[in-house]
Amino acid sequence: MGVYEELGLRPIVNAAGTLTRLGGSRMDPAVLAAMAEAAASFVPIDELQEKAGAAIAEITGAEAGYVVAGAAAGLSLGTAACVAGLDVAAMDRLPDTAGLRNEVVVQRGHRNAYDHAIRAAGVAFVEVGYLGYPGAGGTYPWQIAAAITERTAAVACPILDTPGTVPLPEVCEIAHARGVPVIVDAAAELPPRANLRRFVAEGADLVVFSGGKAIGGPQASGILAGRADLIASVALQHQDMDVRPETWSHRALVEGGRLGGVPHQGFGRPMKVGREEIVGLLVALRRFAAGSDEVDLARFHARLDPIERALDGIRGVRVSRHVPPGKPVPLLLVDIDPVLVGGTAYEVVNALLAGEPPIAVVQSWAERGLIAINPQALTDEETEIVATRLGEVLRAAR
Ligand SMILES: *Cc1c(COP(=O)(O)O)cnc(C)c1O
Repeated sequence: MGVYEELGLRPIVNAAGTLTRLGGSRMDPAVLAAMAEAAASFVPIDELQEKAGAAIAEITGAEAGYVVAGAAAGLSLGTAACVAGLDVAAMDRLPDTAGLRNEVVVQRGHRNAYDHAIRAAGVAFVEVGYLGYPGAGGTYPWQIAAAITERTAAVACPILDTPGTVPLPEVCEIAHARGVPVIVDAAAELPPRANLRRFVAEGADLVVFSGGKAIGGPQASGILAGRADLIASVALQHQDMDVRPETWSHRALVEGGRLGGVPHQGFGRPMKVGREEIVGLLVALRRFAAGSDEVDLARFHARLDPIERALDGIRGVRVSRHVPPGKPVPLLLVDIDPVLVGGTAYEVVNALLAGEPPIAVVQSWAERGLIAINPQALTDEETEIVATRLGEVLRAAR
């Protein structure tokens, strides 16, 4: 019996992609082996983070890098760094930000449920831009400029293709002219691999990526890449600081006057990262960066082929491929005519989950009668299972 069966759980065949609520991505055996090896001995976490950070910096083109407990943790920590900088007293007070730079400017069209992670650092959003008229709605660059004051800690910029929002390079230009950093939520913007460097190159001061999505690292890992001074603040607010000023490995910072004192367990301490995650993320990131979008795309298409063939000729079902613009991960769209099939897309989703083995599919467009198969987290054997079960469910519904 497996670990999940022992707990009375049925493992799911994941045709829904690298979804956090299902466990994220599938780690390569090389990543799992590195994690097991890392867990077998001890190293100082600050030194391990410095080595990992150097590798992240090299891969992203940023000044510095850091391993966080997920992209959302990266947003919280990055915001805390923008608020406190290297001010130990400010670090000590977070998330109470009264009297500190505690506003984050954001375009209305960029608001999303994950931005809670930014607000968790004790800041308030200052929203700019329109959601409707004129045109499709949007932001004027001067609105961002006018919202930046001496209370502004950062401008937040999730990468969403919302019509009318001001693009990142221009946001960075406006913010930097006023000495304010820009934080980019690029959690799910991989692949394409070019995005590992793109947002840093476009001027972002801090960029977060999920480690547990396309990178294929541990589910509870993520990357922060950006300015060295902000990453230094992140490290001080994140790592366990059960240290004595006399023996602290970074005591030179205090002695040299760069830090007012030793910061102790700070704002980021509840988001700790283990050595296994740091090493696992690093191995996964190197493997991902060395890979190829084209090779992956061909492999993903090939994985969808048997599923597409299995649905051929089923009444009321139309199948097509969709490669989202700028995102080289093909989806198999299954358009379900509820009358001819005898069930809605939602009913098909539920039937697949209730079956043996349970299968999860993409349900983002279910209200339009569409389900989709995402090949990212499937193995070849599982592909066959999805092909057979999906065919059975779509025929049986009638
Ligand atoms: C997944 C996601 C996050 C959270 O990332 P984690 O690595 O799971 O913490 C944040 N923002 C966006 C846009 C995401 O898609």
